[in-house]
Amino acid sequence: MEYTTTRCSNCGFATRYRETGVPKVQLGMPLAVCPRCRHLILDSFKTEFEFMSEKKRKAFLSHTVFASFFASCVFFFLFGIFVVVGAALFSDGTAESVFLILIGVFLSLFSVYKFAKTFLKIKSGVLEQAIYASLKRTSDSGYVDFLNSCYQKNGVNKEFSAFGGKSEFMKKYKVYETSDFCKKSAEEFAGILLFIGIDPADKDRMSRFSHH
Ligand SMILES: [Zn+2]
Repeated sequence: MEYTTTRCSNCGFATRYRETGVPKVQLGMPLAVCPRCRHLILDSFKTEFEFMSEKKRKAFLSHTVFASFFASCVFFFLFGIFVVVGAALFSDGTAESVFLILIGVFLSLFSVYKFAKTFLKIKSGVLEQAIYASLKRTSDSGYVDFLNSCYQKNGVNKEFSAFGGKSEFMKKYKVYETSDFCKKSAEEFAGILLFIGIDPADKDRMSRFSHH
């Protein structure tokens, strides 16, 4: 299996492994601190929502990323059925056909499990929470400026562009303000702000967005 890595540019410590083939764009905070040398790391796999292209945003909002995952689950499920039926049709009571049926049953059960897991994920609003947390981070102009300059310095073709539907989104999902996920994200974010020399408690800081 092939992996790509995010390495600390200072000490070479591999902070993240990502299987090739999984979606290249992950929603999240692209800044992290190297656990080995405490150097700031720019994680190229993660992108803030307002640093994504309009197309990618639409894809995230319409759950197409999840939809493609759904499709693969359905395929897997059908494959399981196919094996079971196929094995049953040609069943002659040999150990091989029993084995085939067992594989089919296992694959089917596994795909049902995956399917249920994805369904629950969508129902619990994991994606919306991630977008919400990201939009909150990029409301901070100090952070956005810092990220813009980070990308420029590292030759990464990413740039802030305000998300037009932000107000509606923030209003619609305001309930996530106090979710465990968003609280944890906010904590991590505050840590990074301090690390890059921004005081998270400084309310006079310019905001890219008003939450009212
Ligand atoms: Zn390091």
